[in-house]
Amino acid sequence: MLTDNDINLLQHGCSLLGIAVNEDIVNRFDRYGQMLIEANRVMNLTRVPEDQMVARHFLDSLTLVSVWKPAPGTKLVDVGTGAGLPGIPLAIAFSQLNVTLVEATLKKAKFLGTVVDELHLDNVKVIHARAEEISRMPQHSHAYGVVTARAVAPMSKLAGWLLPLVDRRGFCAAYKSIDARSEIEAAGEDISKAGGRLDRLVEVDVPGTDIRRLMALLVSAPASRR
Ligand code: SAM
Repeated sequence: MLTDNDINLLQHGCSLLGIAVNEDIVNRFDRYGQMLIEANRVMNLTRVPEDQMVARHFLDSLTLVSVWKPAPGTKLVDVGTGAGLPGIPLAIAFSQLNVTLVEATLKKAKFLGTVVDELHLDNVKVIHARAEEISRMPQHSHAYGVVTARAVAPMSKLAGWLLPLVDRRGFCAAYKSIDARSEIEAAGEDISKAGGRLDRLVEVDVPGTDIRRLMALLVSAPASRR
């Protein structure tokens, strides 16, 4: 259960990010946190200590709003979501987003199914598959306005998993650590081969922590502009 300090941090962090939180949102984060802690006892979901979960999982996930203002009805897919990060915090905070969680490990996908049911997250779908598989399916290929991935793979690999899912006007957001600049810059050719280009690298602060993240934003590019 979230402590009073956790709830204060969640509310303060969200207000710094410009996100409105009501009681229903806080209750859902609370229940999600409990489910994560319980499931983590029997499977390897996270190494983040319980008392840092709000900052290092929930607020970190929500920092996407530093680079993008969620628009109702946007289709967002979170690739390699693991325990549901960043997809579930985004779906809890923005019920008008249409969120798909893609996870290759069956037991994690099953856990996510229970979270979706228990939290009544009508705006979330879970797919047990690899990103490379679903991007070949017509209903997923270039079908998403936003594609997210946190801590999934180096950019040289990730680009080929994310870009086939993004639509022509959308973007991919790779949540990277602040020291990942050279990894991202070295992946230029792989990004180009995957049909995209690096649009921006943005440093964002995770509220309530001294953590600074690097968001790598990729977009599709016509062959002539890569
Ligand atoms: N995004 C979560 C987070 O930030 O806590 C999980 C990170 S975990 C280190 C990476 C996850 O990506 C694992 O759960 C793994 O099963 C999943 N994964 C790796 N490659 C994948 C792929 N090609 N398609 C779908 N899931 C993948």
